[in-house]
Amino acid sequence: MLLRTRRLHLLPTPPAVTWDDSPCPLCGAREASTVCEAADASPRAGSPPLTFAVMRCGECELLYTNPRPDAEGIADFYPDDYRPHRRPRKLREVGRASLWGRWTGRRHPERDGRLPWVGRGRLLDFGCGGGSYLKRMADQGWSVTGLDSAVGAVRGVQAELGLHTIAGTLPHPHLDPCSFDVVTMWQSLEHVHEPMAILREAFRVLAPGGRLIVACPNADGWPARAFGPDWFALDLPRHLTHFTPLTLRTMLAAAGFRVEAVRQVRHSDWLRSSARLASRRPGAAWWKRALTAKPLAKFAAWAAFMLGASDCMMAVAERPDFGGPSC
Ligand SMILES: [Zn+2]
Repeated sequence: MLLRTRRLHLLPTPPAVTWDDSPCPLCGAREASTVCEAADASPRAGSPPLTFAVMRCGECELLYTNPRPDAEGIADFYPDDYRPHRRPRKLREVGRASLWGRWTGRRHPERDGRLPWVGRGRLLDFGCGGGSYLKRMADQGWSVTGLDSAVGAVRGVQAELGLHTIAGTLPHPHLDPCSFDVVTMWQSLEHVHEPMAILREAFRVLAPGGRLIVACPNADGWPARAFGPDWFALDLPRHLTHFTPLTLRTMLAAAGFRVEAVRQVRHSDWLRSSARLASRRPGAAWWKRALTAKPLAKFAAWAAFMLGASDCMMAVAERPDFGGPSC
């Protein structure tokens, strides 16, 4: 016990949390009810895990984390080795579709980086992380720009991949209106405090007819419903908005986009991670323990995908030729 006490004293004390009590990020309503509470699965060094609440807006049904660390303090909740910020370990692996994926053709072309050419091929990846997607698209001839609030990740992409990346968020003074043909947001929109402002700015930097692609966890899928607070993709407090297909469509439309499709995306590794989190609880159901096995998780993820209730989804939306600021 003495040794443990001394070790705790050696750990840095995390900064105090400044809380932000937010209205609904979609409609601005204040009335909301608690859906679930869950602890931070990656707590800050020297701090016991804090518990956060997911709320459902009484007006538009958007799910969002509230109260939440404010925009300045949220960075303290990202571990140094946060997975999306890691750079690809082997560059030769970037952009290589699996044999199964190529044979079945089930994977979405956008997810594999084979995005149909749009306009002049100018692409902005919002939340570029370690730059693997940017690299894939640059190799295919796209003129790419990466944007990420993690300064370390941006510097890494510049130094190691030689790609154009800038630190910050939207709006950004270096990004002009109508200057991109495609904007992508791979698992990034759920991390921001003001998703409506981000989407409106994505609309502004897109040329008319340009495409927006948003991939994010599906809070209405079977894994979210089955695992509740143990659902891996809750990732509290780093995930601030928990979209369903309906609320994602509503928010995209409110920002001016024409939504072409919201597709399901499979993630058997997410399902296994949820099963591992659930298995930590005493008396966890047998089927939750069973889903820690890779073959079973793959089958369950496939079944959820076929039923339209996957862990993850991807929306494709267009900036219409009409409306919005002129170029
Ligand atoms: Zn609302």
